[in-house]
Amino acid sequence: MPAYLHDSVLLYLDKLIDWDDFYTRRKGDGTDVAAERGALRSLLETCAEICTKLEPEARAGWLEPARLENGEVIQPEHVRHGYELLREAGLVSVGVRERFGGFELPSFIANVLIQMVARADAALMTVIGLQAGVAEDIQKYASEELQKLYLPRFVAGEVQGAMDLTEPQAGSDLGGITTRAVEESGRCYLDGQKIFITNGGAAIHLVLARDAETFEQSKSTTKGLSLFICPRVLPDGKKNRVSVERLEHKLGMHGSPTAVIRFERAEAWRIGTKGEGFKAMLDLMNNARLGVAAQGIGIAEAAVEEAVRYSRERKQFGMAIGDQPLMKNMLSRMIVALEGGRALLYRVSTLIDHSNALRATLEREKAASAGERAELQRVLERNQIQIRLFTPLAKFLATESCDEITRAAIQVHGGIGFMAESTVGKLHLDGIVTTIYEGTSEIQVSFALKEIGKGALGIVFEELRKELGALESPVLAPFAARVVGGIERIEASAHALLSDFGYALLSARAVAEMVIAVIVASELLRQADDAPERIELAARWIHVKMLELETQARRVIEGDAGRIERCEKIVRLWA
Ligand SMILES: Cc1cc2nc3c(=O)[nH]c(=O)nc-3n(C[C@H](O)[C@H](O)[C@H](O)COP(=O)(O)OP(=O)(O)OC[C@H]3O[C@@H](n4cnc5c(N)ncnc54)[C@H](O)[C@@H]3O)c2cc1C
Repeated sequence: MPAYLHDSVLLYLDKLIDWDDFYTRRKGDGTDVAAERGALRSLLETCAEICTKLEPEARAGWLEPARLENGEVIQPEHVRHGYELLREAGLVSVGVRERFGGFELPSFIANVLIQMVARADAALMTVIGLQAGVAEDIQKYASEELQKLYLPRFVAGEVQGAMDLTEPQAGSDLGGITTRAVEESGRCYLDGQKIFITNGGAAIHLVLARDAETFEQSKSTTKGLSLFICPRVLPDGKKNRVSVERLEHKLGMHGSPTAVIRFERAEAWRIGTKGEGFKAMLDLMNNARLGVAAQGIGIAEAAVEEAVRYSRERKQFGMAIGDQPLMKNMLSRMIVALEGGRALLYRVSTLIDHSNALRATLEREKAASAGERAELQRVLERNQIQIRLFTPLAKFLATESCDEITRAAIQVHGGIGFMAESTVGKLHLDGIVTTIYEGTSEIQVSFALKEIGKGALGIVFEELRKELGALESPVLAPFAARVVGGIERIEASAHALLSDFGYALLSARAVAEMVIAVIVASELLRQADDAPERIELAARWIHVKMLELETQARRVIEGDAGRIERCEKIVRLWA
C-alpha cells in the first residue's frame, strides 16, 4: 500500500463510514456497494501512486515559478506533468455528475484526493482544487446548455478554472467589489480588475461582479453582485477581452500562478439568480474552504513525515534526537495537531456526504409518506446547521495546524531546517497562505461565531452528548465524561459572550478553539473505539485541550467589553 494512503484515511474508508447506508440512500436498494467501495479504493490507490511519483519532481522544481509569456501563463514543468498524470487517470473534476462523464465522488473521497496531491505538490493542488470547485459551481448554477458545453471539458481536463473575487479594495470584504457587469440586449459584459487570482491563465473564469443597474445603491454591500462565467475564448473561437496583466512573486507556492486579471468589455454569462451571486459564491467558497483544509492536512503530513524520519536519522549526544524526551513531546504534539485537523475535516466531509445522500433519497422516493419525508428533512436541516459551523472551523483548524506543524518541523531539523534547500522550509512557506486565502483565519472564526449566534451549538452539543454517551468502554468513558464537562463549560460561558457582539468578536478565536476542542475530542474517541491503537492520540488531545478550554472559558466569563478598550490602549503604545 503506498504511504500516501495513510492509515487514518483507511480507518474511515474501511470502518467509520457506513457505505451501505450511504449508497443505498444515494442510489437506492440493489446498489452493488462492494463494487462502489472497490472503485473508490482503487481511485485512491491510483492517486497515491501518482503522488509518490510526483513528489521528488515537485520538491526539485519548487522554486520554478509560473511565467507570463505573450499574455499566456506557463505553468512550471512539475505542475504541468502532475496535472497530465491526474488527468489521464480521470482524477480532475471528480465531483462532476456521471451524466457529464464525471465520477460524482463523495466529498470525503474528493478531499482525501486533494490532500494527497497537496502532500506531493501544494502548487499543483491549487490547480486541481479550482478545477473541481469551478466545475461544481457550473453544475449547480449554470444553465443546462452551459453545463453541456463546459462540464465534459472540465472532466476531460481540456479546460481549467479560476475563481475571480478579490480586487485591490475588496479582500475579506467582498462588498467592496466594483467590477461592473452591464447587460445589453440579453448579453452581459464585464469591466474591472481582479487581483491575486490563482491559475489566472485558466480558460474559464468564475467572476463575481456588480450589476450596473443597481451599482450605486448596492455599493459597499454584497447585494447586487452576480456570478458570471467568463471564458478567455468565446464558444465561436474568438478571443474574449480577458487578459493576464501580471503574475505575482510570492514567498512560497511558486508553481501556482497568482495573477492580476483585467476584464475590458469581456463577454460573460450570468449563472444563478441576478443579484444573488454572493450566496452562490459562498457555496463554492465553502467547498473550496474544505479543499484548502485538505491542502493544509496534506502539507502537514509531508512535514510530519520529514520530521519523524530526520529525528530517527540525526544523532546528537550519542543517540537519535528523536529519543530525547523533549523531541518525543514535540513530535507527538505535531501528530496530535495533524490528526485533530484531519478529524474535523473528515467529520464535516462525511456529514456533507450524508446530506447529499438524503437529498438523493428525497428526490428519488417521491412516493414516500409525508411523515418519512418530514423526518428526512428534519435530519437534513440539522446536518446543514452543523455543516455551516464545522466548515469554517475545519478550515481554521487544519490551516493553522499546518502552519504550526511545518514550523515545528523546521525546529526538528535544527540549522539544516533553515537552509534554502530544506524541504520542511519549503513546506512551511507553502503552508502559510492556507491561513490566508479562501478567507483568512480571522474571517473563518467570525463566520463560525455568526453561526453560534444563530443557535448552532444547541444541535451540535446534542449530537456530541449522544455520541459521547454511547462510548461504553471503561477505557473511553472517563475521557468522554471530561469532554461532556468541556461542553458544560462552553455553555456556561455562552451567555457572557453572546450578550455583547463586540466582545464576542474579540473572543472569536477562543470561542472557535473551545468548540473545536470538544468536537475533535469526540471524533478522536470515535476513532479510538474502532482503532484502540489511537487511544493515546485522543487522550493527549483531551488532556491538553480540556485544560486550555477551562482557562479560555474562565477568561470569557470574567472578561467584558472593556477588554476592547484595553487592547486599544496597548496598541496605542506603538503610535
Ligand atoms: C497566493 C494567493 C492566492 C489567492 N488566490 C485567490 C483566488 O484565486 N481568487 C480570489 O478571488 N482571491 C484569491 N486570493 C485573495 C485572498 O482570498 C485574499 O488575500 C484574502 O481573502 C484576504 O484579503 P486581503 O488580502 O485583501 O486582506 P485583508 O482583507 O485586507 O485583511 C488583512 C488582515 O485583516 C484581517 N481582517 C480583515 N477583516 C477582518 C475582520 N472583519 N475581523 C478581523 N480581522 C479582519 C484579515 O484576517 C487579515 O489578517 C489569493 C491570495 C493569495 C495570497
